[in-house]
Amino acid sequence: MQCLVVLGGGESGVGTAILGKQKGFKVLVSDKGLIKESFKNVLKHHEIEWEQEKHDIDRIMTADLVMKSPGIPDNVPLVKSLKSRRIPVISEIEFASKYTKANLVAITGSNGKTTTASLTHHILKNEMEVGLVGNIGDSFAKSVAENNLANYVIEVSSFQLDGTFEFRPHIAVLTNITPDHLDRYDYQFEKYIASKFKIAQNQTEEDYFIYDADDPVISKWLPKFNIQSKKMPFSLTNELNEGAYFKDNKIIITIANNQIIMPTTNLALDGKHNVKNAMAASTVANLLKIRKQTIRESLENFQGVEHRLEQVLRINKVQYINDSKATNVNATYFALESMDAPTVWIVGGEDKGNDYKELFPFVNEKVKAIICLGVDNKKLLQTFGNMVDIIVETQFMSEAVKIAYKIAESGDNVLLSPGCASFDLFDNYEDRGRQFKEAVRNL
Ligand code: ADP
Repeated sequence: MQCLVVLGGGESGVGTAILGKQKGFKVLVSDKGLIKESFKNVLKHHEIEWEQEKHDIDRIMTADLVMKSPGIPDNVPLVKSLKSRRIPVISEIEFASKYTKANLVAITGSNGKTTTASLTHHILKNEMEVGLVGNIGDSFAKSVAENNLANYVIEVSSFQLDGTFEFRPHIAVLTNITPDHLDRYDYQFEKYIASKFKIAQNQTEEDYFIYDADDPVISKWLPKFNIQSKKMPFSLTNELNEGAYFKDNKIIITIANNQIIMPTTNLALDGKHNVKNAMAASTVANLLKIRKQTIRESLENFQGVEHRLEQVLRINKVQYINDSKATNVNATYFALESMDAPTVWIVGGEDKGNDYKELFPFVNEKVKAIICLGVDNKKLLQTFGNMVDIIVETQFMSEAVKIAYKIAESGDNVLLSPGCASFDLFDNYEDRGRQFKEAVRNL
């Protein structure tokens, strides 16, 4: 019997363990921290062995195959010793994809993964059996074990891609590449870029690679990777003969001389970045032969994903918007760009080495006041102090929202788009977004 060790007892670890057991492996789940009670119950139910708050090194070193959860860095001693012994260390999507013949649509990028994956799933589900899995929530491996659907839309992070060798999605989407998570890539942007391009590494001429042709990093690096699949670029600014572009409030998609035109005037989501996400999702849907009418209706009735430019409430003609998921400057760039009224901007948190320069034109043009919400707001105060009339700081969401309420006038927006991680004051970005919404409802 082959022995599978699963490092990390979270969503992807438990999913992999279930699939591994089903496929005849002897499975051990090993977690250096505590495994959640709900996951322990699932493991018990499937009679899968697990250990927590320790790693049984001797036993782990006898594994035939190791699945490492995406949260565990490659440079921890345990993973290094596994690799030095030539024990294969792979990720969940690599493992799960070996056990399914499903049509796979894999979506990666620094920003827009969840939105694009959700929108793609929202369109496809009208006409096919399709699961939405990966980073977004449900484990791909678990779904393969329990449902083995005919199609999957998989949200894939770079950490998942790092552990892929044979993973071959029929359709790969790369939304954009901006510096993120560099601590896991020896602070070398090139390594992070290479990780993102792994999504297409095993594709053949029968597959498709959809990407943002306006993204300077993608354009520069694409020729350096030997990608075999058919390229389907999308662009907001240039007319393209193949792929998708945007003109006169329409998305024009051309695939093998067949042209499809989709109006975007009724697109439910705001912002240019969402036009990009819509172009990517519609291209996937077109390649999979979804009817035009279905795509059009789905784009119009997709309500977006929580914490991404989410319209919360309108109070005294002031619109409150929750973009708590904007944990880096690029995401906040698109949020500010999409503001069509004077904006009170709530920003801050744990700075990941942010460079705010690219936001300056929007701040000058649209931001009437800044509320810094972080433990350490020095950098924000220094950077934006001379740019706006009002800049204040606080460590409490309720206070931030109350101040915003006092400043905002009829017709304004109040935007939470932090551009920073949330961990200094909140459990995670969801907690931050929920606290914002609660504070708005309490006004
Ligand atoms: P991810 O799953 O990659 O983190 P999300 O869809 O959750 O991406 O969006 C994260 C943040 O990025 C949100 O603030 C959202 O408004 C913004 N965003 C969404 N799509 C894009 C895009 N194509 N380019 C830049 N920012 C985007």
